[in-house]
Amino acid sequence: MFKLALQDGHNRKVSYVRISVTDRCNLRCVYCSEPTFSDNHHDQILSYEEIVRLVRVLVTLGVDKVRLTGGEPLVRRHIDSLISSLNGIDGVNDISLTTNGVLLEKLADSLRTAGLRRINISLDTLDRKRFKEITGRDYFDQVRAGIEAALAVGFDPVKINIVVMRGVNDDELLDFAALTLKSPIHVRFIEYMPIGASSTWSGDKVVTGAQMLEQISENFGELEPVLAESGGPARLYRLPGAPGRIGVITAMSNHFCATCNRIRVTADGLLRPCLLSDNEYDLKKVLRSGGDFAEIGELVRRAVASKSAEHEMACNIERKCARMMSTIGG
Ligand code: SAM
Repeated sequence: MFKLALQDGHNRKVSYVRISVTDRCNLRCVYCSEPTFSDNHHDQILSYEEIVRLVRVLVTLGVDKVRLTGGEPLVRRHIDSLISSLNGIDGVNDISLTTNGVLLEKLADSLRTAGLRRINISLDTLDRKRFKEITGRDYFDQVRAGIEAALAVGFDPVKINIVVMRGVNDDELLDFAALTLKSPIHVRFIEYMPIGASSTWSGDKVVTGAQMLEQISENFGELEPVLAESGGPARLYRLPGAPGRIGVITAMSNHFCATCNRIRVTADGLLRPCLLSDNEYDLKKVLRSGGDFAEIGELVRRAVASKSAEHEMACNIERKCARMMSTIGG
């Protein structure tokens, strides 16, 4: 297929879109949702037809990777039918999904049958009581069952994402790392980012990737870098003899903006060129006012052209991006 590559003003090609399919969530993580969680009415969020139309346009511009996220994507009904439609678009080469895993045990098989190959599951603790404190819900066992189901139906790889917060869960790094000794799971430690104006973030809660790796290698021995598989934002390592991988995502201490290839679409149809900037473009308006391929493509090009060279956030900043992650789509 002939493609007109999307390129920003800093010579980066955009080939990856992360689409939030809902701003609803069945968890209330303290760092990710407002105390008074509000969600959009159904007609305010993009329909599956609109998402498919948008992806058809993006594919003509060189996007070939789609990740579905939220809110919690598995709370939106018939998500497998969306995956199947996206899978049928010529030019979409990779569909993945980020979930909290609560509903995964039930849905893993149908997601896989619909064409999903890769899955990321967010889990910040291996302790049931702490899980409830962080997420506000007592669904730890469901998430563990969801991870088992993801492995059983053959998602490859199954990634577990942990946001590491000092004083909250940084004492569990070694327990998470040890999971990679037993199964082919990728455990990815994510630096805590200043997202959401009223969030609980503060600079002293950030544990840097370097600090995480030091703690792990002090206990388990030298970590072996796995360079060949280290595409994307995670730097990957392996414990000696382990089937799994350990990754660190260092958006705060050592950002990877120079290789950023992604854009995001919020559940209410706004295109966000950078996760950590509040600059947004109204795609829903164009989609709903009968915009054709050219008009939608033009808006996407303008948004991509506006991508800044790098985000402005570092561990010592005060500024936080206004939206919570649950409304952007992480
Ligand atoms: N509900 C799905 C889930 O739990 O994976 C998808 C949406 S959730 C917003 C996506 C990811 O963003 C989760 O892994 C969550 O932990 C992460 N996240 C939310 N707020 C964050 C923050 N301030 N810093 C780093 N990661 C954050």
